[in-house]
Amino acid sequence: MLEIVSFTLGPAQTNAYLVADPDTRDAAVIDPAWDGKRILSAAQTRGWRIAHLWYTHAHFDHIGGAAEIADALNPLPLVALHPSDHVLWRAGGGGAYFGFKIDPGPEPAIDFTHGQILRLGGSRFEVRYTPGHTPGHCVLYCADANVCFCGDLIFAGSVGRTDLPGGDWDTLEKSIREQIYTLPDETRLLSGHGEETTVGKEKRFNPFVSA
Ligand SMILES: [Zn+2]
Ligand SMILES: [Zn+2]
Repeated sequence: MLEIVSFTLGPAQTNAYLVADPDTRDAAVIDPAWDGKRILSAAQTRGWRIAHLWYTHAHFDHIGGAAEIADALNPLPLVALHPSDHVLWRAGGGGAYFGFKIDPGPEPAIDFTHGQILRLGGSRFEVRYTPGHTPGHCVLYCADANVCFCGDLIFAGSVGRTDLPGGDWDTLEKSIREQIYTLPDETRLLSGHGEETTVGKEKRFNPFVSA
């Protein structure tokens, strides 16, 4: 059974998720937003090994804690990101635009592809390619745990902004309709910012993208 520890960190109050299979102690961080030492110590207290850093997208506020996590680990955790966000990753996640310079940490080592299955102990995550907020945005869906980590694609009562470089409204809307609204209504949505919600709630109440 998947365990999830949530954090809200950094200048943009970004949600980071430490996920693990407590039986095998294999752990991953989905969007190591900021304050890597806090995420790391939460893993260490539980006896979990962080072997993976999975990025929904490469914005600076979602990867700003990666270097501190990686610096403390040997072997280094494997960074996974969709290749269409590599340019953004190399540009420091666009932080300069907001006045932030981050250490981006280890180079991406694994390219996300749509439909790819990631394994973490006994849990499986499906990568769903969901561009619109950034060109390489992906969400990670764990059907067994009934949860989708959806980054900055959709939030409780809102959606990701599309006015930053590489953003596109029509593409975002299509990603939400085809990759989120097709999941079971009871699926928990754990977003990059704000409170958790469900697919059913957003299909009924999201004011930006109706079902
Ligand atoms: Zn973002
Ligand atoms: Zn964000």
